[in-house]
Amino acid sequence: MKPAILVRKLEELPIYASPLVDFIRLGLQHRALPLTSGQPAPEALPLEDLARLAPEALRSRGRKALLYGSNRGLGELRRALTEWQVRSGVLPEGLGDEEVMLTLGSQYAFDLICQGLIRRGDEVACDAPCYPDTWCTALRRGASVLPLPVDEEGLDPDHLEALLAGGHRPVLVYTVLHYQNPCGCSLSPSRQRRLLELAETYDFLVVLDDPYRMLALDGPPPCGSDRFPRLGWDTGRLLYLGSLSKVLAPGVRLGWLAGHRELVAGLAKLQEMSLISLPALDGLIVLEYLLSEGMTGQLSRMVRFLKERRDVLAEGLRARCLPLGCTLRVPSGGCFLRLELPDLPATPLARELAERHGVATVPEAAFWPPSQTPAPDRFLRLSFSWCTPEELAEAAERIARALEGRPR
Ligand code: PMP
Repeated sequence: MKPAILVRKLEELPIYASPLVDFIRLGLQHRALPLTSGQPAPEALPLEDLARLAPEALRSRGRKALLYGSNRGLGELRRALTEWQVRSGVLPEGLGDEEVMLTLGSQYAFDLICQGLIRRGDEVACDAPCYPDTWCTALRRGASVLPLPVDEEGLDPDHLEALLAGGHRPVLVYTVLHYQNPCGCSLSPSRQRRLLELAETYDFLVVLDDPYRMLALDGPPPCGSDRFPRLGWDTGRLLYLGSLSKVLAPGVRLGWLAGHRELVAGLAKLQEMSLISLPALDGLIVLEYLLSEGMTGQLSRMVRFLKERRDVLAEGLRARCLPLGCTLRVPSGGCFLRLELPDLPATPLARELAERHGVATVPEAAFWPPSQTPAPDRFLRLSFSWCTPEELAEAAERIARALEGRPR
């Protein structure tokens, strides 16, 4: 007999599994070409550089990293990352040391935010469709989720304002700043301003998640020119999340959170209560990489890598799927293309593609929170960060063949 506490705990465990994982699994099961995952292919990761720097990093600074460290992450690494982000025009100049903390990737940062700042029953509003782990996290932490539809300019503040006028009171609004997952859109500067004005009027916090910012494939990122709104920093209503997962390596699990010093202090305390401190050995290697200017080369290699793959996939889909009535959204950065389908729901097509045609994709419906029923299901998200150009060309061909074979 299982211990009663175990049975009870398992039944009560608030697991909201990301539906995206089902499509990754389905693809694996059928050995399909994986256009599902947004992580960079192994050959795009700087293994040689890191392997070369690791012994040096450990020899010169390792002893410090063998002890418990600060609850905000290794100080030297935090400062080097902050300086790099300020130099790159992301974080504002003059940002104080107490306004930034390192985290175990940006998803963990969002979990900390939900754990620390929301109470059971609070409302959290987020982009819709949206990276599912975001709304799964908010649900798991006891919030109800309000979907905020996005278009080409990111989330629509008019929609949010209508919800607010109708009596909804989200405590947090989560949005992806650049090259949103799954839509590829970026939040325009005018919408950023409106969002922060609404935050001021209706008293909520804005969480800007920005893991794809550095993957600008066609010139500078659209929201980078005037940094992001000063307003959010000054009023303390902004929490900014950055990550090395898409540019360096997802396995390093390194992200950062920037915001008002009081918020950062509280969240760092929470991080300390669950982790004591962040692992520091791998952080040392990243520090060495940053100081040796290795990151600059890695970034341009990653951008070239993704741009080639995006263009091959887009070209294949344009030639083969547009004549079949599809519409293609090609983003100017990030990892995902969006193939809009003429008149069929995307979920059965995604299943058929994986099971019968050997291409794994994710349908739009997987990105909507369960409160949205029925979920819109008009497009397939196609990731171009994992497959080779040859595989991507083949995937476009297979998608076209599957569409041709379907009744219209
Ligand atoms: N935010 C978004 C929008 C993402 O797409 C992802 C990963 N796909 C994450 C956060 C998770 O990033 P990290 O690896 O830094 O936790």
